[in-house]
Amino acid sequence: MAGTIRLEVVTPEKVVVDEEAQIVVAPGSLGEFGVLIGHTPFLSTLKIGIVRYKDISGTERFIFVNGGFAEALPDKVTILTQSAERRRDIDLERAKSAYERAKMRLDHKQEDIDFIRARAALERALYRLRLADTRH
Ligand code: ATP
Repeated sequence: MAGTIRLEVVTPEKVVVDEEAQIVVAPGSLGEFGVLIGHTPFLSTLKIGIVRYKDISGTERFIFVNGGFAEALPDKVTILTQSAERRRDIDLERAKSAYERAKMRLDHKQEDIDFIRARAALERALYRLRLADTRH
C-alpha cells in the first residue's frame, strides 16, 4: 500500500465520515471518479449516489450522498453534501415511505407538482433503498 488518503464527508448537521482510506470513489456529475494518494488537486460537483472507499483494513465502505461538492487534494478528499448516511445508518422503512410519496406525486402528474423536486426525492429514496438492501 503506497499510503492512505483522508476522507471527510460533511453535512450541515454533522461529520458523517472522517477516516483514512486506501481509495475513494465518488459519483461526479460528469461520471464516477476515483482518488488515490498523490492525486492532482481538483474540484467536482456530485450527483445523488454512493461514495465508496476502502478503509485501512481493506474493507469496502459505502455512503449515500445527496449530491454536493468534492474537493480532492493529494492527501485528502472532502465531500460537502446536504445529507449523507453510512449504509448501516439508513432507515429502510423511511426510505420506502419516501419512495412511495415521491412515486405517487410523479404518477399522478398533477400540474402543480414540482417535478424536479419530486424526481430528486425519488432518486434519493432509490439509492438509499438499493444501498440498504445490498449485503456486502
Ligand atoms: P425524507 O422525506 O424521509 O425526509 P429526504 O430524502 O427528503 O427523505 P433528506 O433531505 O435527504 O431526506 O435528509 C434529511 C435528513 O434525514 C438527513 O439528516 C438525512 O441523513 C436523514 N435521512 C433521510 N432519509 C433517511 C433514511 N432513509 N435513513 C436515515 N436517515 C435519513
